[in-house]
Amino acid sequence: MLATRLSSFGECETAPLFLISNVPTPCDLFGLGSCRHCLDMHLPTLVSFNLRLQLCYSSSQVAAVVNSHLHFDHCGQNPALHGGTIPFWVQAAEYEALRQDPYYTDSNWALAPEPQRRTVRGDERIAEGVTIIATPGHTAGHQSVLVEAGDRRVVIGAQIVWHSDEFTAEVASAANVDPNVELRAAAVDSIKRIKALKPEIVHFSHCQALRPQRTNDAA
Ligand SMILES: [Zn+2]
Ligand SMILES: [Zn+2]
Repeated sequence: MLATRLSSFGECETAPLFLISNVPTPCDLFGLGSCRHCLDMHLPTLVSFNLRLQLCYSSSQVAAVVNSHLHFDHCGQNPALHGGTIPFWVQAAEYEALRQDPYYTDSNWALAPEPQRRTVRGDERIAEGVTIIATPGHTAGHQSVLVEAGDRRVVIGAQIVWHSDEFTAEVASAANVDPNVELRAAAVDSIKRIKALKPEIVHFSHCQALRPQRTNDAA
């Protein structure tokens, strides 16, 4: 039976870095970013991440990287894994946003070497129990990850919302989504889509995780 263990990985109470570990077959997957407290300290963040990575996991244990989107705070640690064979899964719309706006992100962090790039269009199952779910809103190419193990389901929602209250209320906030009618509508649809999966827990990049069922039970 596939046993999946999901843990946040980082020093913050929020969890911009995620590790999915499948046992007994090692399959580690990270969303790599810099933590909220380190947004202005990219280099120390990168160094400390490298140290943690070396202490806890070698790059040979990392099977894949999924960037929720390519804003700098979600790809700042990518270069630690550039140059090998680890695939980076990113929606095509993110590459297009970068192409259209040179200030969209730091391209040195966002763009893995060509052979490592895996371009996603919509949903894609990338490993047993690990499925990328397109969740546009915060950006046109934002994506989440559904992790399934037996009858258990967990979602890494990343920046599908800024705060979990937005997820509960199903709103696209000004803090998280540009005032664009299509993006706002897409953001709400993305929240509803993730909720429909009935995950036991949803992890976010900029606030603490939420257990939707527990919230419903308490309501
Ligand atoms: Zn962002
Ligand atoms: Zn962010």
